[in-house]
Amino acid sequence: MNPIKHLVVIGTGLIGGSVSLALKKAGRVERVTGVGRSRDNLVLAKKRGVVDDWSHDIAEAVKDADIVLIAVPMTAYVSVFSAMKDTLPAKAIVTDVGSTKQSAIAAARGTLPGCSRFVPAHPIAGTEQSGSGAAFAELFEHHLCILTPDKQTDSAAIQRVEDMWKSTGSRVMRMEPAEHDDFLAAVSHLPHLTAFALVNAVRKQGNEQHEPFEFAAGGFRDFSRIASSSPQMWRDIALCNREAVIHQLDALQSELNDLKLALQNGDGDLLLNNFTAAKQARDAWLAKHGEHQS
Ligand code: NAP
Repeated sequence: MNPIKHLVVIGTGLIGGSVSLALKKAGRVERVTGVGRSRDNLVLAKKRGVVDDWSHDIAEAVKDADIVLIAVPMTAYVSVFSAMKDTLPAKAIVTDVGSTKQSAIAAARGTLPGCSRFVPAHPIAGTEQSGSGAAFAELFEHHLCILTPDKQTDSAAIQRVEDMWKSTGSRVMRMEPAEHDDFLAAVSHLPHLTAFALVNAVRKQGNEQHEPFEFAAGGFRDFSRIASSSPQMWRDIALCNREAVIHQLDALQSELNDLKLALQNGDGDLLLNNFTAAKQARDAWLAKHGEHQS
């Protein structure tokens, strides 16, 4: 792949910053401009070598871009696309990292009419940290990145974005946007909502002597790690994939009801079968994918 001459990263946080660092490490980008609202975050990004220069002004920053990477929370998409629509060069490719793809495409198509050079993408990698201080070059290595182009998407633009992600160390696959949103609701959005709900359920159960977290150990720490994720980001993801997430919450509620019923009936066989099926499914997943699947 030819190096990207000028990459503009709108949203220089964990994901946007890590894309920049990964491409710099691979020698695939000549100049990166970071765009955001917080001066402190952008100054830190420059200090850490995440970006070469920065701006608060989206319209100005994209004027000379080859690739524009959108890495902001999902509900900021329309305002970000609106800000760039008059100054975006005709040849520039726009791509994103957002966690829900149908809403990303709707925002792009509604704001950048005829923009066939928008290539929706979602790296399946992350941490519960935020901001440019959390970015690191190895974040995407061996992880999947899903592209969800459709018939309108320019094929050369898709190839360029696919090459960009391969340069970060990602494995790349293509998928229908709706299929992506359904699967990610199950394996990503549901676990995050469940972690938030679990921590809330537990935190309300203290008494005058103790708060419940005093007794929590590794199991609680593992299960609740993602409840430390950005509340704003997860509000946006849940709202942008509302129907699929509601469907997944119904599925979980049904599983929990089965467990409750088994306990009410003292049905040890049902519990054992249920726990065994879950253990086998998780063990098989780990055996196949190891630690490189998030
Ligand atoms: P992050 O670390 O909080 O970074 C988000 C960046 O967006 C910040 O630099 C923030 O800077 C900027 N921003 C926020 N609101 C904005 C607005 N209204 N206009 C312009 N810039 C804005 O979050 P992240 O984890 O990198 O997530 C970014 C995107 O990646 C999200 O769409 C998320 O769905 C997706 N994603 C996240 C993960 C994950 O595990 N974290 C994984 C895959 C995909 P300022 O506040 O200074 O503007």
